[in-house]
Parts: sequence; structure tokens; C-alpha cells
Amino acid sequence: MSALNRREFTALAGAFAATSVSPAAPAVAARHGRVVIIGGGAGGATVAHHVKRAAPELSVTLVEVQKRYTTCFFSNLYIGGFRSFRSITHDYAGLAKLGVEIVHDWAMGVDTARRTVALRSGTTLDYDKLVLSPGIDLKYETIEGYDPEVAERMPHAWKAGVQTRILRRQITDMPDGGVVVLAPPPNPYRCPPGPYERVSMIAHYLKYHKPRSKLILLDPKPKFSKQALFMEGWEQHYGGIIEVRLSNEVQNQRVVRVDGNRMELETADGETLKAAVANVIPAQRAGQIAHLAGCADGDWCPIRPSNFSSTLVEDVYVLGDAAIASKMPKSGFSANSQAKVVANDIVAALAGKKRFPPRYRNTCWSLIATNNAVKVGASYKAGEKLVEVTSKFISKVGEEASLRARTFEEALGWYDSITADMFAKG
Ligand SMILES: Cc1cc2nc3c(=O)[nH]c(=O)nc-3n(C[C@H](O)[C@H](O)[C@H](O)COP(=O)(O)OP(=O)(O)OC[C@H]3O[C@@H](n4cnc5c(N)ncnc54)[C@H](O)[C@@H]3O)c2cc1C
Repeated sequence: MSALNRREFTALAGAFAATSVSPAAPAVAARHGRVVIIGGGAGGATVAHHVKRAAPELSVTLVEVQKRYTTCFFSNLYIGGFRSFRSITHDYAGLAKLGVEIVHDWAMGVDTARRTVALRSGTTLDYDKLVLSPGIDLKYETIEGYDPEVAERMPHAWKAGVQTRILRRQITDMPDGGVVVLAPPPNPYRCPPGPYERVSMIAHYLKYHKPRSKLILLDPKPKFSKQALFMEGWEQHYGGIIEVRLSNEVQNQRVVRVDGNRMELETADGETLKAAVANVIPAQRAGQIAHLAGCADGDWCPIRPSNFSSTLVEDVYVLGDAAIASKMPKSGFSANSQAKVVANDIVAALAGKKRFPPRYRNTCWSLIATNNAVKVGASYKAGEKLVEVTSKFISKVGEEASLRARTFEEALGWYDSITADMFAKG
């Protein structure tokens, strides 16, 4: 008991009271244990699951605008024809069954002094601990002529759902011989290897269905994640289909302007390209609610590496893509790993449970061709100021086909386990 501070003790007492038969008891627990989570994706859904499972006496409310969540992870496989849309779309029934209150609404604002969240429907939610995992917003304004309406013709497909379907349909509908232009964002952005897995998946589709077509990669960066592995795979499987254009001292391939009616893209060098399909992925920032809550410093949200609590606002955690997690990439795996630390910190603070030392992990698998996947990953610890790498690994160029096939099997297993963990399935 001496290890608990006064607030934790009060919360613990409330939690114990809640298990007694007094009808007034749940109100005591509710007063001391209200957790509100905004964003039911890789970070937020996992927090909801683990808080509720570890401390059922706490009230856990998950605010998520969408009724069904389509994962960005494996959305490239859908675009390439390797997965169905249904297989990457999930609902919140498992979390609801566990006792998480699911509110399908849009969080409009946070009053951090009163500790309330305002929803579009007019409802106000009180919290003791608030978790923000809103993912990303796209900085449309960084590309002249690009906006949400033009994105229906030149999809980014960097938030999965309708956008992903549009891109897939455009690729299957385009004429054989048409050019696909794929313009990745500048750093930092959601899923560093994501654009290059997408290049692989689209090239795979073109190879078998539109053999006279090609794909031009217009990258604003001089290098990219798992580059040697992707380049090897593209040469082996998609020779003549993919044209890679990186930016360097000599050329600047950043897309600065688009014309959605003419399907044209202009680079910083002044070249204009005409596309049958233009996959334009702009620069990104933390989801709007993180900014409205006062948690952002610039585009992203600073956090304490020990528990992903905001350094700017008390009793608020920011995790997933919205957070500045130093060397930890913005990935679903990272968000899920951070979520378990956040959940543990919350149940320690509000329900008096044991607080474990934080440990973080990430692995990003990418499918290059049929049964040919590569991976990169690392383990991390909480340093004083930064999340620090403790060990790391990456697939090697020239690996045996059997190893690549096993790596793909691992990816399939990971997908099933992360989605079961996020949505409390099974
Ligand atoms: C093409 C692609 C491929 C990827 N592949 C992989 C991969 O293989 N492996 C991997 O680990 N990661 C992958 N990722 C990255 C991964 O999808 C993200 O890093 C992850 O989803 C981040 O989780 P999050 O909780 O921060 O945000 P999200 O998962 O985006 O969740 C945010 C949720 O918050 C909701 N929301 C936002 N604001 C509000 C509001 N104000 N009110 C209510 N609801 C709100 C949104 O509707 C959304 O559902 C990929 C990404 C892309 C684009």
C-alpha cells in the first residue's frame, strides 16, 4: 500500500467499492475511473481493449467516427488483388461485448481544464484520463490544386476505406498502356515502406493484367525504407514496368501542382506528366483533435517516452501516428505496442494495478511479389527524452525464396493477431 500515492489509493478504493453490492458503488468507480479514447484504430482500439480487460471496473468510452474500420495495413494487398476488401474491414462488436462503450461520433474539441470532450452530436464526455490516437491528417495545401474533391480523382488512399476502393477501381479500369504515377510524401509520414509496397502491388497487377502499362515513382526523397530490398525485387519481378525517379542535388521530383481534370502532375523541376492513374500522397500531420486539444508542437505531438503521456497537456496520452516517437516509425505495429504501455499506465493510475517497465517493438512486413515478403523491425526502450532503439533487424538482399515465403506467412499471422488484439476478437 505504501507504494501507492493518494490519488491511486482513492482510485483503488473506488474500484474496490465498485465490486461491493452497494447500488451507489458504480458511481464511485465512475467518478474516479473515466477513460475516454478518441480514435478506434491501431492505437485507440488496443488501449480500449487492454484497459477494459485489465480493469473492468473503469468506465472506458471509445469515440470513433466510423462504424467499421478498414486497416491501412494490407490495403496495398487489396489494391494488388491479394486480399478482399472485406478481409481488411472490422467492426467494434468484440470491444462492445467486453464492456467498452462505443460512441460513433466525431470529437470536435477538448476542454483540458474541465476535462471534457465535446462531440458533434452535442454530447459532452467527462474524463479522468484522455487518450488521443486520431492518426493523421493530410496536408492538402502542400500541393497546389490538390484538395479532398480532387483526391476523388487522384486518390491518396493513405486513409483506408473509400479512398482505397477508388484507387483499386482506377487501376483495374485504366486502359492497358496507361501510366500510373505514384507520388510518395516527404518524411515523416505514416508507414515508411508503405508507398514502396504499393509500387510492388500495383506493378504486380500491371504485369499480369495491363502488360503495356508502366508505373512512374516520383519521390521527393533521395532514398527510402528497405530500398535495396525493393529495388532488387522490382528488378527481378517487374523489369520494364517501374521507373524510379528520386530527388537529389540534380533533380527534384516532388509534385508541386496537380490538375485533376487533365490528370496532370507537375514536379518541382517543372516537368508535367500525364497519368491514367495518379496516386498522390501528400505530407501529413497529427489528426486535428490532437491540435485542438493543445497537444501538438508543429505538426506532431511530443510525448514522454516512458508512457506516451503528452508533455503539453496533463492527463492526456497521445500515441500512434500522431505522436513524436523518435526512431519508432509511424506504423500499426508501433501504435499497438505503444497502446499496451498506455493501457498499463492508465490502469496503474486509476485502478492501482502494477506498473510494468515500458518496452516497445515494431516490425513492418512488405509484400513484393507472390509469397515474397521482406521485413524490418526493432525493439525500443524509454530513454530520458527519446524512445531509443535497443536492437534491430532487416531482411537481406538475395534471400532464398523459401525464407521470403516464411516471412510472408509471418505477416499473415501478424495481421490476424493484431486485428484480434485491436478489436478483442475471439
Ligand atoms: C498503405 C498503408 C500500408 C500500411 N501498412 C502497414 C503495415 O503493413 N504494418 C503496420 O504496422 N502499419 C502499416 N501502416 C500504418 C498504419 O496503418 C498506421 O500507422 C496506424 O493505423 C496508426 O494507428 P493510429 O491509431 O495512430 O491511427 P488510425 O489507425 O488511423 O486510427 C485513427 C482513428 O481515429 C478516428 N478519428 C480521428 N479523429 C477523430 C475524431 N475527431 N473523432 C472521432 N474519430 C476520429 C479515425 O476515423 C480512425 O479510425 C500502413 C499505412 C498505409 C497507409
